[in-house]
Amino acid sequence: MRYPPVHLLPGQDRRLRAGHPWIYSNELRMEAAAKALPPGEPVCLFSGDGRPLALALFNPHSLIAARVITRNKDATIDAAFVERRLARALRLRERLFDLPYYRLVHAEADGLPGLVVDRFGDVVVCQLNSAGMATLEPLIIEALERLLAPRAIVLRNDSPVRELEGLAQEVRLAKGSLGGPVELVENGVTFLIDPLEGQKTGWYYDQRENRAFVARLARDQTVLDLYSYSAGFGLQAAAAGAAHVLAVDRSQLGLELARASAERNGMAARLEVVREDAFAAVDRLGSEKRRFGIVVADPPAFVRSKKELKQGLRGYRKLARACGPLVAEEGILAISCCAHNVPEDAFADEVRRGLRDAGRGGRLLRRAGAGPDHPGHPALPESAYLKCLVYALD
Ligand code: SAH
Repeated sequence: MRYPPVHLLPGQDRRLRAGHPWIYSNELRMEAAAKALPPGEPVCLFSGDGRPLALALFNPHSLIAARVITRNKDATIDAAFVERRLARALRLRERLFDLPYYRLVHAEADGLPGLVVDRFGDVVVCQLNSAGMATLEPLIIEALERLLAPRAIVLRNDSPVRELEGLAQEVRLAKGSLGGPVELVENGVTFLIDPLEGQKTGWYYDQRENRAFVARLARDQTVLDLYSYSAGFGLQAAAAGAAHVLAVDRSQLGLELARASAERNGMAARLEVVREDAFAAVDRLGSEKRRFGIVVADPPAFVRSKKELKQGLRGYRKLARACGPLVAEEGILAISCCAHNVPEDAFADEVRRGLRDAGRGGRLLRRAGAGPDHPGHPALPESAYLKCLVYALD
């Protein structure tokens, strides 16, 4: 198969050669022919001096103008190609997990740039976050059908990054129907989720191993699960023997799902939910002199662009400072950052300062990221976006 050529400007092929999968629009020679290509088209990228480099999915209207899909210039991007990528992603997850609940495709890292697929048993939820993946939608659905024959395939095409690709916001079933909440099992606990109305795909699989770690420390403890969403951390702690969990989030749906999951697991008596702004809750709990054996804080990204870095970093320091006093003596603080443009060291530094401001010393027990169903792309450090620090305070 021959794909339309797109030429890089002279000297702009270094990053690509080093393994990076993206070409920005200012690194290309935007000829009229290239500009006229429909967004998402496969193209062959050429260096400034005319050598073929890779096949990419092209979007002339996006800042990320080309995303490499294969270094094999002779490949054909067809149903068989998409199925091979999905099958490889599936084989890896089947080696990692006993049960069919995981992130099946993590975008660039799994060789499908811009595609996220979360699997909840026989329900599959996709986010097509690039024009390339939107174009490949029929092939993706076909391949999922052949590999998994799911009962339902949900397209959660409502993430804000789609706007950068000129793609519309939509939530739609590509297959089947959902007659109510969907179940998943993580670390032995059953959760109810809502793939149509819930946040993102309905569940945050990235915290799986961090939840398991916190649960190990939870027997007989009181737990504050701040930014709990559906209490993934809190309910796993409860299942591991926590005496009481207080989940705080501003999402009504998240807290309702937390309640439903608690009931499903016979733990409703040990879960209390409060719909409140997290910082307001921390202030209130502080003035009530409440203390917790474990505090988990898993906020939304405080930094959404490089411009916001300085201001956003202060947010993590402020959060650590605010949480410090709520942690009981010899208690645990698990604090996370999911902002892809905050480097791990910068986050760790802010947390250290925040705890110092709060007058809390401690030991760092764990520095971790997302679980292995969220692999990192080796040349794309921001694909390792999640940082989780677990401290034992003095
Ligand atoms: N800890 C959760 C994931 C949290 S995602 C889990 O393990 O699944 C971040 C959460 O922060 C979202 O549920 C969002 O509703 C909540 N949130 C965002 N801003 C908030 C605020 N100001 N106060 C309380 N919750 C907030």
